[in-house]
Amino acid sequence: MNLAILCDFDDTVAVENVAHLLLGRFGDSQWQSLLQQFRDGTIRPKDYFERCFLGVRASRASMQAYVREHAHLRPGFRELARYCQGQEIELAIVTHGLDFYVEALLEREGLGWLPAFTVGSRFTSNGIESDFRYTRDDCQEWGNCKCSVVDRYRTQGRRVFYVGDGLSDLCPARRADLVFARSRLLELCQQEGIPHREFQDFNDVLTELQQPLSARGVP
Ligand SMILES: [Mg+2]
Ligand SMILES: [Zn+2]
Repeated sequence: MNLAILCDFDDTVAVENVAHLLLGRFGDSQWQSLLQQFRDGTIRPKDYFERCFLGVRASRASMQAYVREHAHLRPGFRELARYCQGQEIELAIVTHGLDFYVEALLEREGLGWLPAFTVGSRFTSNGIESDFRYTRDDCQEWGNCKCSVVDRYRTQGRRVFYVGDGLSDLCPARRADLVFARSRLLELCQQEGIPHREFQDFNDVLTELQQPLSARGVP
């Protein structure tokens, strides 16, 4: 099937916000005030992500071990991955999160082979530096531009389903053929009239995919 399913990571594929899990354990004293500035909208999301992790001195190995021990995959994701593999549906992660923590959780679940569009990380003596690899000149707010990944699949002639939970998912959701939304993204889709389904876990997504096309009512 000529379909790509693109999934946000924190609070979507992962039950928890893994960035916050790590910053709560390894972040420096600045993290909470940066988080407040981010919530107040006084710093760009990109600067928030970048500066929080610059305050971290832990090693890659110790942080990955912490993720493996404390993070959870949302139910149904492994089943969805297996189904997509069988149907030749492209399933990928699109996130503002850092590569090492996304990999740690996926690898623990035997899903390290999934394509993941992440932010690159460099562990230096000055903390963890971010490497934004999927950027676009007119979309600088968030660092990586999630919509550029949607566009990448669309130009391959694929239909794109997008799965997410938050404000940073709104831009890619606007460009997707169908959105699976929960939490804040659900409210935003309702407000903007974006074609969407509410989901709790990935079993809901799988159930929808197994419906005949005609029953889906996707424009
Ligand atoms: Mg999220
Ligand atoms: Zn963008």
